[in-house]
Amino acid sequence: MVETGESDYISGEELRQWQKQAQNDAIAAEVSAIELDMFLEALTDLTRLDLRLDDFGDRPYIKLNQPWSAIVKLWERRITERVPLQYILGVVHWRNFTLKVSPAVLIPRPETELIIDIAYHAAPSAGSGNWVDMGTGSGAIALGLASVFPEAMIHAVDCSWSALAIALENAQSLGYQNRVKFYQGSWWGPLHSLKGKVSGMVANPPYIPSQELPNLQPEVILYEPPLALDGGESGLDSIHHLVQTAPQFLQPGGIWIIEMMAGQGEAVTSMLESAGCYRDLKILPDLAGIDRFAIAYLQ
Ligand code: GLN
Repeated sequence: MVETGESDYISGEELRQWQKQAQNDAIAAEVSAIELDMFLEALTDLTRLDLRLDDFGDRPYIKLNQPWSAIVKLWERRITERVPLQYILGVVHWRNFTLKVSPAVLIPRPETELIIDIAYHAAPSAGSGNWVDMGTGSGAIALGLASVFPEAMIHAVDCSWSALAIALENAQSLGYQNRVKFYQGSWWGPLHSLKGKVSGMVANPPYIPSQELPNLQPEVILYEPPLALDGGESGLDSIHHLVQTAPQFLQPGGIWIIEMMAGQGEAVTSMLESAGCYRDLKILPDLAGIDRFAIAYLQ
């Protein structure tokens, strides 16, 4: 964030006028007006309530955390270039965390928050031992696991160095750097020493079928890393790989949990069944009631 200078203020009246125009621009561009409130909340000293009550027009000045001209340009980028708000602000709120994000990492989604609760409820002994987050991105899942399993060691893997740099920063700013270890590599590649010793694996792997990528919202397809989205022709390449490879690393009774796309439940169930070494498979919905997660235990 830019340091606040003496001149980084605007009158309530001026801000109100700009806000009205920005709201219209948002509506025309089919961007939710709520995003404008989130934007102003992040970059000014206005609270969400001030914005809701719309009672700041009389204030002689509102404090800005960067020059007004820069703030105006940022909102223009949101509207005209479709840059996701989270990349513009550089942060996302996810569970009880504020995480740094950049286009090097997928923006952690609200629906993924639940995967941490699923792991927590599935874990027999308060989740001690080794937990793995495959394809950690911003580190969200690894950090969520660290927060609910205070006894566990979390191993987070990503093939992208630039993603790992962000994940490490997030771990440090939340104080988990001693319990979350980061590894660069492909899937289990860097985790050889953990064969047969993993209590649980959690992953939000790429699962969008390649041919559907061009149909995603422009915010996603233009700015989010394709590596985190593209699941190959069927969308299931990475999930299939994790079904096949996890049994060498999980301990008996070890937990396997992934996020998937609506409609993939049957295919994932049959992959797990035909692997022949998992038990108690379940498909679980997200909070919108959409089948979103698969869980199984190694026999
Ligand atoms: N949930 C993401 C989306 O809707 C996709 C994440 C993924 O492929 N794992 O774009």
